[in-house]
Amino acid sequence: MNVTNYQLAVFLEKYNSQGATERILSKLEFVSVRQSLEEFKQILLAHGHSTCFYCLKPVKQIHVDHFIPWSYMQNDVLWNFVLACPTCNTSKNNRLAKIDYLYTLV
Ligand SMILES: [Zn+2]
Repeated sequence: MNVTNYQLAVFLEKYNSQGATERILSKLEFVSVRQSLEEFKQILLAHGHSTCFYCLKPVKQIHVDHFIPWSYMQNDVLWNFVLACPTCNTSKNNRLAKIDYLYTLV
């Protein structure tokens, strides 16, 4: 909800050019800057996650994927991360995964 409110405020700011608050949110954009996911990758690897969450293949180069894409939920929480091979991560891109994967995640 906070991200939604923030994005709405950013949108409305474009149409409000009055006073000292002009473009103030764009100056605070660091609020939603993406952080390194290496810490989450190490936690998942330490807990036995060594295959791609989507295709189940063992992978040499593994990516940390936001199960619910970053653009939907700009918050890094462990439950929203899975390890994915580059192929699956790239093909999923910025979309929600199929519902079956949600059941697996739960
Ligand atoms: Zn995969």
